Amino acid sequence: MQRRNVIVVGAGPVGTVAALACARSGLDVLLLEKESRVDDSPRASTTQPPTLEILAELGLIDEYLRVGLIARSFQFWDRASLKLIAEFDFERLKDETAYPFVVQTEQHKLANMAIERLRGMANAEVRMDAPVTGIEQDEDRVKVSTASSVFFADYVIGADGGRSAVRKSLGIEFEGYTWPERFLVITTKFDFQAAIGCCLRNYMAGPHEWTNLFKVAGDDLKGRWRAVFNTREDESDDEALSDRAVKARLSRIYVPEGSRDYLHLNLYAVHQRVAKSFRKGRVFLCGDAAHVNNPIGGLGLNAGIHEAWHLAALLKERTPDLDSYERHRRPLNIKYVQEQTIANKKRLEEKDPAQRARRFQELKETADDPKRHKAFLMRASLLLSQ
Ligand SMILES: Cc1cc2nc3c(=O)[nH]c(=O)nc-3n(C[C@H](O)[C@H](O)[C@H](O)COP(=O)(O)OP(=O)(O)OC[C@H]3O[C@@H](n4cnc5c(N)ncnc54)[C@H](O)[C@@H]3O)c2cc1C
Repeated sequence: MQRRNVIVVGAGPVGTVAALACARSGLDVLLLEKESRVDDSPRASTTQPPTLEILAELGLIDEYLRVGLIARSFQFWDRASLKLIAEFDFERLKDETAYPFVVQTEQHKLANMAIERLRGMANAEVRMDAPVTGIEQDEDRVKVSTASSVFFADYVIGADGGRSAVRKSLGIEFEGYTWPERFLVITTKFDFQAAIGCCLRNYMAGPHEWTNLFKVAGDDLKGRWRAVFNTREDESDDEALSDRAVKARLSRIYVPEGSRDYLHLNLYAVHQRVAKSFRKGRVFLCGDAAHVNNPIGGLGLNAGIHEAWHLAALLKERTPDLDSYERHRRPLNIKYVQEQTIANKKRLEEKDPAQRARRFQELKETADDPKRHKAFLMRASLLLSQ
């Protein structure tokens, strides 16, 4: 039985990038995915500047830009009054990165792109329909079992998502909590930019209900919008997904009657959790398997890709310092992804009118001051924590 250098579990965006980065550095790689195809439900699209730098190193950037939308700025709005509070412009980061913008490209496009590259490499193999059912290890190697086969590797990267079978098989706790509300994503062709003058990435605050509005290219590249809402805590899934409630939500973000058709609905549970450890022996956790967070700010996947990139660089070393991965990446996730996304959520949902007014004023002053504007973006783009 061939022994691989690295087995990656999970062909989501993080696992495929990890596998490609390892393969491009000359390691023998096997990628195992439970499903027969990449999941294309509407999740991440916002790709931050340091992630674009990694995609450039991997030779994916031209294709990635071609199937996405470049968003130079993002805006904060008060939803009730439809008043623009502040706008942040990534051009302020032009001395810090070759990519002073974000790209809105759906995450399944990245995973499919990386799989296609892996399939053309002699030192890489991709197996779909291969759910990993067990992991055993000793000091020398790791044994990975699927329903029909057994594989051996020097190292394993568990990138099998929030419910990670790898994390569970290692007995690693997933510390944190789940928010009581869920997030509803409504995908629509309604053109919010033309209708209300917003940009491609918008955060609309509201004390009872807030909305984030993003434009993505879609598979047909014709463009569509995703409107993300919080549900009420006492709202059942059936109610949130009902046609009546969806159209009522669209009406509250200024979609006129007659234009409230939608293409897709998705309802997500939202968590803030970090694995107690990012490694056990020769097995590493990466991406959502290691941490999950609310999606406000577009950070979770980006952080996962940064981890994948660091792991690939580590594992190609002759005598890797295995502890360094957890030592660096776990605190970075807590400080820059968990703290930031919790603050982002609080800013959107603030209920106290005086406190809300203070938060709006602070955002406005930050955007108006060039130094603070840049510092805000350095953190929000993960350039401070890559
Ligand atoms: C509404 C929403 C919007 C978001 N927006 C953003 C954003 O704009 N920017 C951002 O950075 N993040 C965003 N996120 C978060 C982002 O979607 C996740 O962080 C991302 O999917 C993590 O990728 P992953 O590859 O780690 O895990 P996943 O995408 O969950 O992939 C895991 C893969 O592992 C496979 N798998 C599972 N178990 C096994 C097994 N036993 N054996 C083999 N394979 C297995 C699964 O089938 C899947 O293909 C958003 C999330 C949501 C819900």
